[in-house]
Amino acid sequence: MDLELDDTQRMVRDTARAFADKHLSPNAARFEREEKIPREVLAELASLGLLAVNIPAEYDGAEAGAVAYALAMMEIARGCASTAVTMAVTNMVGEVIAKFGTDAQKERYVRGLATGQLVAGSFALSEAEAGSDPGSMRTTAEKKGDRWLIRGAKQWITSADFAGVFVLWARTSGPGTAGISTFLVPADTQGLRVSKHEDKMGLRASSTCALTLDDCELPEDALLGELGGGFKIAMMALDGGRIGIGAQACGVATAALDEGVAYARDRKQFGKSIADFQAIQWMIADSRTELDAAKLLVLRAASLKQAGALFSREAAMAKVYATEKAGLICDRMLQVHGGYGYTRDFAIERHVRDVRVSRIYEGTSEIQRTVIARAVLR
Ligand SMILES: Cc1cc2nc3c(=O)[nH]c(=O)nc-3n(C[C@H](O)[C@H](O)[C@H](O)COP(=O)(O)OP(=O)(O)OC[C@H]3O[C@@H](n4cnc5c(N)ncnc54)[C@H](O)[C@@H]3O)c2cc1C
Repeated sequence: MDLELDDTQRMVRDTARAFADKHLSPNAARFEREEKIPREVLAELASLGLLAVNIPAEYDGAEAGAVAYALAMMEIARGCASTAVTMAVTNMVGEVIAKFGTDAQKERYVRGLATGQLVAGSFALSEAEAGSDPGSMRTTAEKKGDRWLIRGAKQWITSADFAGVFVLWARTSGPGTAGISTFLVPADTQGLRVSKHEDKMGLRASSTCALTLDDCELPEDALLGELGGGFKIAMMALDGGRIGIGAQACGVATAALDEGVAYARDRKQFGKSIADFQAIQWMIADSRTELDAAKLLVLRAASLKQAGALFSREAAMAKVYATEKAGLICDRMLQVHGGYGYTRDFAIERHVRDVRVSRIYEGTSEIQRTVIARAVLR
């Protein structure tokens, strides 16, 4: 792994950093209050290439690679975790279509996501009764002549109320993972309905919705990849997605640490700055060390992915470590803020709430440990 960034990676990171500093950090509290990310923000992300960082230029992507994507994600999440998860899912959806799609599917959806025409992408795998165990999903896709009829319901779908396209998994034959296939579902498909909006603890500017699919009729060419090959596609997409979520957690922890350090320098007790107390210094030292370790794990997984090597174990390691340490760092930095950290007057309480879900979505910490242990013991 090369620890030096190349020119493209530096440029993508700096672009994301400048955007986060100017448009996200100053506005993230407002986005949360208004419970939405303004469309202009998503349009600007698209125009900067940040909704398609690792997508070929042939489809209007930035073609900057997985490392640049992880670096950009860290910067955007430092500014606004809700914007970051929208970006993460859209990049993941674009990548999965770019990898498994036909030319026509790529032309329509990958280009549409990269240019911002489709606003965002949604990843519809989870169901109310099928979270860690997507192999038990109940949504079905039945072939009727040259059409597919999709029936069922999905749960927890990020950006479902404004995404232009859904990558959606449904059962095309018997039980188990072999009976699952992947479909591309445009948002205006008849019978596709966004139902409940989740009232969440954090990431409140990102929408998370339930979906119902009531005899959604799709053309034959809505199938992505091979019939029955859906589970493999989902697992491959999640491997890459875990790098994104690890990077997101690093970004939120970076914001928390920056704010904790600034507060510690500023706040005086017992006649001196609280940064002079060893207890505070140790919290800062441990946090900085763990944050750097987390970033390195994320970048290692990203560089393996970029090199075309196996990276599933490393992505799981990066995700579990980065998300758990990020939670700890945010909590410590709230402690540094004392009572003020427990109020809405400081951003740290939002970081604590926003970062918590990173240990749950795209595979819980327990599932990451299962993936790692399985690979180590193999
Ligand atoms: C804000 C948010 C956004 C999301 N966005 C999306 C999205 O865009 N698309 C999508 O498809 N899904 C999305 N999800 C769903 C998310 O991926 C699931 O919540 C997650 O996979 C866990 O599933 P579950 O909630 O059903 O928990 P469960 O699977 O019921 O797990 C409950 C607990 O049991 C543990 N557990 C389960 N199985 C095992 C096991 N084998 N070994 C040890 N422990 C186990 C879990 O680790 C967890 O602690 C989102 C969720 C949230 C909260």
